[in-house]
Amino acid sequence: RVQISPKAIVSDACASYSTLEKLNSKVNPAINDLTRTTDFFSHYRLNLFHKTCPFWNDENGMCGNIACAVQTLDNEEDIPMVWRASELGKLEGPRAKHPGKSARREHAEKPLQGGLGDNVGESCVFEYDDECDERDYCVPEDEGASSKGDYVSLLENPERFTGYAGDGAAQVWDAVYRENCFQKSSFPQSAQLGTSSKDNGPAALDFKHVLDAAGRQQVLESQRQVKPDIPFVAKTGLEAEDECIEKRVFYRVISGMHASISTHLCWDFLNQTTGEWTPNVACYKARLHRFPDRISNLYFNYALLTRAVAKLGPHLAGGYTFCTGDRGQDASTRAKVLAVTEAASSVPQIFDESLLFKNGEGPSLKEDFRNRFRNVSRLMDCVGCDKCRLWGKLQTAGYGAALKVLFEADNHKESGEAVVPALKRTELVALFNTYARLSSSMSAIQKFRAMVEEQELAA
Ligand code: FAD
Repeated sequence: RVQISPKAIVSDACASYSTLEKLNSKVNPAINDLTRTTDFFSHYRLNLFHKTCPFWNDENGMCGNIACAVQTLDNEEDIPMVWRASELGKLEGPRAKHPGKSARREHAEKPLQGGLGDNVGESCVFEYDDECDERDYCVPEDEGASSKGDYVSLLENPERFTGYAGDGAAQVWDAVYRENCFQKSSFPQSAQLGTSSKDNGPAALDFKHVLDAAGRQQVLESQRQVKPDIPFVAKTGLEAEDECIEKRVFYRVISGMHASISTHLCWDFLNQTTGEWTPNVACYKARLHRFPDRISNLYFNYALLTRAVAKLGPHLAGGYTFCTGDRGQDASTRAKVLAVTEAASSVPQIFDESLLFKNGEGPSLKEDFRNRFRNVSRLMDCVGCDKCRLWGKLQTAGYGAALKVLFEADNHKESGEAVVPALKRTELVALFNTYARLSSSMSAIQKFRAMVEEQELAA
């Protein structure tokens, strides 16, 4: 039984790596099928342009590269039926209203779609507002049909190299990692992060001139302000038993997400000489290969999401309605979801969430953890590249959904069984797409590793 304890460093257990890679060979085709061939999971709705950075003035950090642009679906007829506001509007009405807080509290005693009427799943609910469930780890995207929502096809806007770099990007990563400082007294409240830096970064980057072979802006290491993994390694390496699990998990989730983003930008990299999109081994070496802890954190995230998806499986199998408006499409979407959840369940429980928020200061850390993760999701509005912001928002929402499934399940009053909290449509789509991102990062890393070995043999 291979279990990745939140305490363990994945990289020191080769068996865990290979177990996860073997698992991924089953998950990868299923998750690709789900996210690439169903309307429900290949599209997303979010506030891409209508929220401003709540922490600082980011006007100067905008990326003007064409690769940063996102194509949104602006005409109703281009939006798949399952996502059209007019279709969702049909679900309006007292029975289909999203359960408010009181209803959510009752939820622990009900199955996922209780109280919403026959064939109306939680995911069908027409959601009007940004109302935040106290159990959310993310600031919810507006799901309403108001003009605030932007519809995107995730297939048309792949996560890949954009050339977004420099001070603007560094400032966001820096702030994201600072959320890991749980010491309340020494950490400035996030609202105070907004020190209103007006000169934080170049505008449109002409990446032909300023980026090196690894796709990074050429900045002297000594000029860099963000070096989060250096102090972390020193402080919370294997030997650092004083670091509590919760803080460690928080860091690993962020670092693993960062590593996955780096993997995709290196894997789908624009060769500026040939104009081709191609894997860039130098980029992989500079950002990942030399930092096994980053790769280990990515694998850690894969284990965490695998557990969340497996835990969600029985709840989705029990009649979750995907409201495509077409029974056949509903059934095929459900079958594809179940193929993923079954693949994710094909290994023994791989991540033990019960170890967190338990002893010592654990329980009191939960709210802090949740609030800090919400801040990370808010920081995504400070990302100055539309494409990066899209995927940053989607992935923080995906991790937020996973954390909610893992840590916010209530126990059924009578049976004592875990009742997974209801996920909104966007949370579900974000969760499965984030899992797909991690799955493809793992495949890319395996291929990159082979390329490096080949290069070394040839040298
Ligand atoms: P960065 O990746 O900016 O890292 C900054 C510092 O963080 C490093 O110097 C290092 O000390 C530390 N660090 C790096 N990786 C890790 C890790 N895994 N764990 C811990 N510490 C680490 N660019 C794209 O081309 N495509 C995208 O889709 C994209 N999405 C982005 C999404 C977000 C939310 C953000 C903030 C940026 C995104 N970027 C994207 C930009 C990209 O992540 C880099 O910031 C950029 O390529 C510059 O890279 P860098 O080498 O300067 O280091």
